Amino acid sequence: MLAGTIAWIVHQAVFEPGTASAWPWLGLAFLAVITRHGLQALRDWAGQQLAFRVRGDLRERMVATAARIGPVHLAHRGHSGAWASRYQEQVDALGGYYARYLPALGLALAVPLVLLAAAFTQDWVAALLLLFSAPLIPVFMALIGMGSQQIHEAQQDRQNRLAGHFLDRVRNLDLLRRSLALDAATDEVAEAAQGYRRLSMRVLRVAFLSSAVMEFFSAVAIGLVAIYVGFALLGFLDFGPAGQMTLFSGLFVLLLAPEYFQPLRQFAQSYHDRASAVAAAEALAPLLREPPLPQSEPEPLPAGAAPTLLRLERVSLHYDPDGPPALDDLTLSVAPGEDIAIVGPSGSGKSTLLALCAGFIRPSAGSLALAEPARHFAWMGQRAHLFHGNLRDNLLLGAPPETGDRELIAALGAAGLRVDDPTLPKGLDTPIGEGNRGLSGGQAQRVALARALLSDSRLWLLDEPTSALDPETENDLLSRVLEHARQRGVTILLATHHAAVYGRMRRVVRLDQGRLREDGDV
Ligand code: ADP
Repeated sequence: MLAGTIAWIVHQAVFEPGTASAWPWLGLAFLAVITRHGLQALRDWAGQQLAFRVRGDLRERMVATAARIGPVHLAHRGHSGAWASRYQEQVDALGGYYARYLPALGLALAVPLVLLAAAFTQDWVAALLLLFSAPLIPVFMALIGMGSQQIHEAQQDRQNRLAGHFLDRVRNLDLLRRSLALDAATDEVAEAAQGYRRLSMRVLRVAFLSSAVMEFFSAVAIGLVAIYVGFALLGFLDFGPAGQMTLFSGLFVLLLAPEYFQPLRQFAQSYHDRASAVAAAEALAPLLREPPLPQSEPEPLPAGAAPTLLRLERVSLHYDPDGPPALDDLTLSVAPGEDIAIVGPSGSGKSTLLALCAGFIRPSAGSLALAEPARHFAWMGQRAHLFHGNLRDNLLLGAPPETGDRELIAALGAAGLRVDDPTLPKGLDTPIGEGNRGLSGGQAQRVALARALLSDSRLWLLDEPTSALDPETENDLLSRVLEHARQRGVTILLATHHAAVYGRMRRVVRLDQGRLREDGDV
């Protein structure tokens, strides 16, 4: 419309000056400009909205998948740095597909067809020139596109590895410093970053190349149309409609030509959005297609005559369907208030048994039944996992929301940590860094015990909670664990291979290669 009105105004001005006012036509041109920009803004807004929704939905599904497969399997599905990079960058990479590529694709299909039809009404030779130059573009684009996707995949894979690599080095900075390996680690990170940079430059090169190809062909085609119109107007051509070309029809076709290529150019520019989105989608798809866990929820255990908190019935568990079982035909019954040591050499299935009782993994065969109180458990591992924040936030995790500072301080005291200890300069407000920074290993375990006390759980699952501590701290912490658990009637399942630890427990279950070797009261 804009091209038509401009062509008409020029035509009128040149051939019939003064016969008609140009104002209505200028008004029409103005309206066309406004409509055009309004529609473009609407298209951008709709694209962004769509991208926003898709990204939000995808992130929700990733979190749900992570929760569904649980911590044990998750740890084996890649490094946490790679997870973070997928969650952030790769989900973002999908946004470009919806925000830019899809709208550009729609326009690239529709707009040239409409403009072609408009050009045909004025001059079929010029329209044919446009028609035949357009298909060259997708052909060359496809050739470039084939290579670009592989480069995008390699780039994203490298990005994930770089994220994991960097996170590992940062987490273990103190270890690297102590072992004087800091320079080597710095070089390694720099090398990995250079590799990533090189790949990113290749991605950009391909993006520029595809735009340049597009620009070249559209410039050639527009040039051809311009030459044709010029010669026709000068009267050098007398075939087909060229003889009857007027200034209006010539100008109209010439003004349409760049518009005809504009959506195709935009399409070419957004083409690398598609390549990066497809590569990201291929990395994300397996996560979202994680098969459901092999078995349903643990069965409830009715409160019967013989009180049982937890019962495993001929349970087997395979991490790898073709490998040896981590637990093999295990039958075990636990009564409320028992304290049980699970002992056995490394790899005998102790952690697996605890993870099973926690519901982090499900048995491959056999059944697990839990009484209601066992569904609310506290967990302590070798190293307490404290979150970045302050001591109060970390204690409140899992505690009832109305818990006050007095109760927090009492629980810390019961775990053997005084809140006025000089190492906790701000008491409950003492900041705790990532990886428990600011606390010693023993203090962190005491915080974990305080957390267990505050959570009021009836079942404590303890996976070698004292193995990283010195004997004195180990002894003290264990005494406190047993004292509080017995006072409160809490059931303890504690994995250990330390005689000093299991010697203090009332029942010892011995595992060997996933099988029950011995189960006895001490
Ligand atoms: P323990 O705690 O007694 O050292 P685990 O329960 O950690 O023993 O391991 C039992 C067996 O299961 C080992 O052979 C171990 O390699 C394997 N295993 C443990 N966790 C996983 C896992 N997430 N994926 C695959 N195999 C695992």
